[in-house]
Amino acid sequence: MSKRDYYEVLGVARNASDEELKKAYRRLAMKLHPDRNPDDASAEAAFKEAKEAYEVLSDANKRRAYDAHGHAAFEHGMGGGGGGQGYADINDVFGDIFGNIFGGGGGARAPRRGADIGYVIELDLEDAVAGIDRRIEVPTMVGCKPCKGSGSEDGKLETCASCQGRGQVRFQRGIFSMQQPCPTCGGRGQKLSNPCKICHGAGRVEEEKVLSVKIPAGVDNGDRIRLSGEGEAGPAGAPPGDLYVEIRVREHEIFQRDGDDLHCEVPIRFSQAALGDSVRVPTLGGEAEIRVPAETQTGKVFRLREKGVKSVRSRSTGDLYCRVVVETPVNLTSHQRELLQQFEATFTGENARRHSPRSSTFIDGVKSFWARMTS
Ligand SMILES: [Zn+2]
Ligand SMILES: [Zn+2]
Repeated sequence: MSKRDYYEVLGVARNASDEELKKAYRRLAMKLHPDRNPDDASAEAAFKEAKEAYEVLSDANKRRAYDAHGHAAFEHGMGGGGGGQGYADINDVFGDIFGNIFGGGGGARAPRRGADIGYVIELDLEDAVAGIDRRIEVPTMVGCKPCKGSGSEDGKLETCASCQGRGQVRFQRGIFSMQQPCPTCGGRGQKLSNPCKICHGAGRVEEEKVLSVKIPAGVDNGDRIRLSGEGEAGPAGAPPGDLYVEIRVREHEIFQRDGDDLHCEVPIRFSQAALGDSVRVPTLGGEAEIRVPAETQTGKVFRLREKGVKSVRSRSTGDLYCRVVVETPVNLTSHQRELLQQFEATFTGENARRHSPRSSTFIDGVKSFWARMTS
């Protein structure tokens, strides 16, 4: 029989460990999985081949038998590659990977379920924080009503001429002859005598589906909401996929978000910074006040507890961080200029350094810099 050696199929040595086998199989299955290679018969055949090889070699008893007798060990019984098997049993190896990619989340996945759909909703920060109901229009496939998703006018079937009802056709792969599900009838061996005139036998039609999505308060960029069963209808009445709504939050003119915390900049006058003052700051809910103490430097951050975002995952609420920035006054009147000139004149000699903490450090730094340069 022209069957490839199982070790060769997986590309591992004959003494490969269980871990190496598993790795090799995962790599192949990731590449060849039918979900990633729709309508690619050679990928599907190679996938089945790898699956069969792994099923044998990952079972200690079967592996021993195979090592001793080769394929002859399974000539009776082991029906690898028989049609209509589905991909149920790969879940034990793949629960973690395909569970995430395809939203399966445990349990066997029916092979011909409708596709999942992704949809992006853009929100203003205010709506993301408060939560909102959104109506969306999703281009999708829905079950065909006239034929109730069956794809048939009258429910009558006839034997597929391409495969004479066997559901499988032979094809050549290198020097090997292999089988694949019949592309004409999709491996069922039968086809519809009178396909539905609306959906042409597909059992589903394209439609813009209108849905209302409840977006919970506190969602952030990249959060996904899963609407179970709202994906594409499956072909020929198979169960539908899921709809994943991904949240994107637009930039806000005042607040930057960091998880459940908010950050903003608050400009203050330098006289306020020097003398101290109460300063009004914006919050998402309205306004708050921070007490800026005398002699505050630019860049100082004030934290307002629980004025951030109420978490979508817990009961906690983030904080609001206000960073004050001292502004240089502009459009001075002659009177203001005069006052400032008088003020400036008070900075003489040692006096100047006493009132300027940053400049003193700076001047000392410059001095030692020059000392090093000239020594
Ligand atoms: Zn056929
Ligand atoms: Zn129809």
